[in-house]
Amino acid sequence: MVIPAACLFDLDGLLLDTEPLHARAWSEAARFFGCQLSTDQLMALRGRRRLDCAGQVQAWIGEHSGQAPSPAELLAIRQPIAETLLQHAQPMAGAVALVNRCTELAIPMALATSSSRAAVALKAKPHGWLRQIQVRVHGDDPELTAGKPAPDVFLLAAARLGVTADHHCWAFEDSPAGAQAALAAGCRVHVVPPPQLDQAALEVLFPGVHQSLGSLEAVVLDPVASAEPQ
Ligand SMILES: [Mg+2]
Repeated sequence: MVIPAACLFDLDGLLLDTEPLHARAWSEAARFFGCQLSTDQLMALRGRRRLDCAGQVQAWIGEHSGQAPSPAELLAIRQPIAETLLQHAQPMAGAVALVNRCTELAIPMALATSSSRAAVALKAKPHGWLRQIQVRVHGDDPELTAGKPAPDVFLLAAARLGVTADHHCWAFEDSPAGAQAALAAGCRVHVVPPPQLDQAALEVLFPGVHQSLGSLEAVVLDPVASAEPQ
């Protein structure tokens, strides 16, 4: 493996194990309004901004029952559930070591997340190691026009690091929407897909990604190896 010019990290489901918690919160909120979300629907919500998800869930509830709550009504149920759960999110395997290693090697890092600034503050509070990633693009960033799967989050993160979003700029993602965003930005995209997906599902959900990893523990950054001829 070579050394990248920069690493752009997704947060939810990539550095922190929050996706099962987000899924549970959406699931419970939809159930409150009489709609059971499928595994595929929950997968489609991964990696997207809260308001984008709320609009999608609202549409599904409408299709299911003919009438739907507003996004605000939906979030009034969903947010307290999510906030209680998310305070206890744990790091994903290999996440702490990888971020520490980037710091050791002085590889610029940025957070490229759909989560709002307030949501990141809540989730990151118990995780001092995340403070190594100072450059951040949040889902409610004033300079952000479109959320994942649009490329803007990654383009803005790369710009803030002063690097080009190209093959030397590595993006790490776990969600189809996030991987699509990073590919559209032009990054080299490493995905750590949800473990329950089989190969056929991976090919459908993550077309075009450059590398699929079992976990972040598989990422080896070795400056000696990178100095050798390719
Ligand atoms: Mg994610």
